[in-house]
Amino acid sequence: MLKGIATSSGIAIGKVYKLEQPTIVVNEGQTDSAVELQKFEDALQKTIADIEQIKERASATLKPEELAIFDAHLMMAQDPEYKDQIIGMIKDGNSADNATKQVSDMMIGMFEAMDDAYFKERAADIKDVSFRLLCNILGLTIPDLTAIDEEVVIVAEEMTPSDTAQLNKKYALGFVTEIGGKTSHAAIMAVALGIPAVVGCTGVMANCKHGDTIILDASEGIVIVNPNEEELKEYKVKRDQFLAEKEALKVLMDQPSITKDGHQVELVANIGSPKDMENVVSNGAEGVGLYRTEFLYMESTDDFPDEEAQFEAYKVVLEKAKGQRVVVRTLDIGGDKKLPYFEFEAEMNPFLGYRAIRLCLDRKDIFKTQVRALLRASVYGKLAIMFPMIATIDEFLNGKNFVQETKEELLKEGVAVSDDIEIGMMVEIPATAILADEFAKHADFFSIGTNDLIQYSMAADRMSEKVAYLYQPLNPSILRLVKLTIDGAHSQGKWCGMCGEMAGDPQAAPVLLGLGLDEFSMSASRILPTRKIVTSLDYKQMKEMAEKALKCQTEAEVKELINGLL
Ligand code: PEP
Ligand code: MG
Repeated sequence: MLKGIATSSGIAIGKVYKLEQPTIVVNEGQTDSAVELQKFEDALQKTIADIEQIKERASATLKPEELAIFDAHLMMAQDPEYKDQIIGMIKDGNSADNATKQVSDMMIGMFEAMDDAYFKERAADIKDVSFRLLCNILGLTIPDLTAIDEEVVIVAEEMTPSDTAQLNKKYALGFVTEIGGKTSHAAIMAVALGIPAVVGCTGVMANCKHGDTIILDASEGIVIVNPNEEELKEYKVKRDQFLAEKEALKVLMDQPSITKDGHQVELVANIGSPKDMENVVSNGAEGVGLYRTEFLYMESTDDFPDEEAQFEAYKVVLEKAKGQRVVVRTLDIGGDKKLPYFEFEAEMNPFLGYRAIRLCLDRKDIFKTQVRALLRASVYGKLAIMFPMIATIDEFLNGKNFVQETKEELLKEGVAVSDDIEIGMMVEIPATAILADEFAKHADFFSIGTNDLIQYSMAADRMSEKVAYLYQPLNPSILRLVKLTIDGAHSQGKWCGMCGEMAGDPQAAPVLLGLGLDEFSMSASRILPTRKIVTSLDYKQMKEMAEKALKCQTEAEVKELINGLL
């Protein structure tokens, strides 16, 4: 039995498809520049065509924001500076492959050394593109995952972005990789595709060959190569149980999210694009609690999306929600989220810097386009607008006034705008949680962004694996901030939601319920499991437990309290 890192959930049992990439050996001798230049040009054109073809095939299964990776790859392959540097080295007498390898390695090293998640990801893109280019120069064949036509479990050293994007859910039962962590691209993709995957499983490549039988338990991070009869039987039972439970949850589709003693909450979904609305509906969500609009901006490669493009996206989401509330978060860019067409000044701490509402209030031109599009779309459903990263009352009032002014401007132009738009804010900065009762005099609702709230409370970068142990949603300090926020909202008759990852965490649900959270916003796939938990609990009992949790000293004590109760 091998142990890796659990990513998604579920169990896969099947035949091994070993993804073996060709080995690159470059020619370091002197060469004929004219011949090599032609070889390079041909390979580069083939590489661009290959990427376009993969993108085309992947578009059948992937969402637009997931397809954006291929645009980044195409941009990289067509980057004039990259190309010119390679050509320069070929003209100096290097072979096409040697020149490509040297220039690529230099760029990969440069990006990997940068202290910024966005640029580190770019290093992965260059690796992916340059590997394809080198194979094309050397006439080596990259395995074609799209050609798989039987059910298999893929075993690989690493799954690159283009590998995962080529997976066909019909045949790829799951995958396991030697390399990768919980937040690696491959792991995130597995969750998005809804297939079982184990990453960081050291030794798996050496321990299996093509055609072996393999078991993958993605919830536990367990991998068994060539299992014995008993193991096979045990995991088949587990797999069938998992599938049966998943199926059984469907009866909760149209049920209210109500505790045994009659306390009702709202379970809503986080989305990143209009395409996600299919999942929202098919998973029984009661609306959208967070629409991360920055994806709309990140998908665009050359300029900010214009008012019309934004209006269309918001309108589609509102219409598909069929009268259920849609909370749209205004542009939350900066920090680790960059735009290819907008230059951010370098800052020592981008997560504490010029981002989100700070940027929007400073660049009203950018903000105006979004607010106009939102207000125009408001007549197509039940819109709520939410500002990210609010730190002060002034920021909130400036944002709210700006929406009001824009509304008046539109009405003067004769454009219809809904009269019933709630204006709320994210609570993801400790200062805001502490002053929540005052904020609640101005805001219609709160949504607690625990991903950032925990990072700022613990002073622990959410991108750093070294300090990941400080991500402690159930630490009493965090629970007290959550309580301050919920109580603050309720003191003014307002509602309080949560849209950070904590909202969909099964272990956190009982205590959040007990603290009085009104709305839980999470990945659509978490809705039904969470509804099952809510409907099995007693609100009064959870309130008592939450009181005790607030008086604990450590996260471990809180977990013990919750586990003891369930
Ligand atoms: C959060 O911070 O919890 C949140 C929901 O926003 P994001 O993860 O987009 O920063
Ligand atoms: Mg946030």
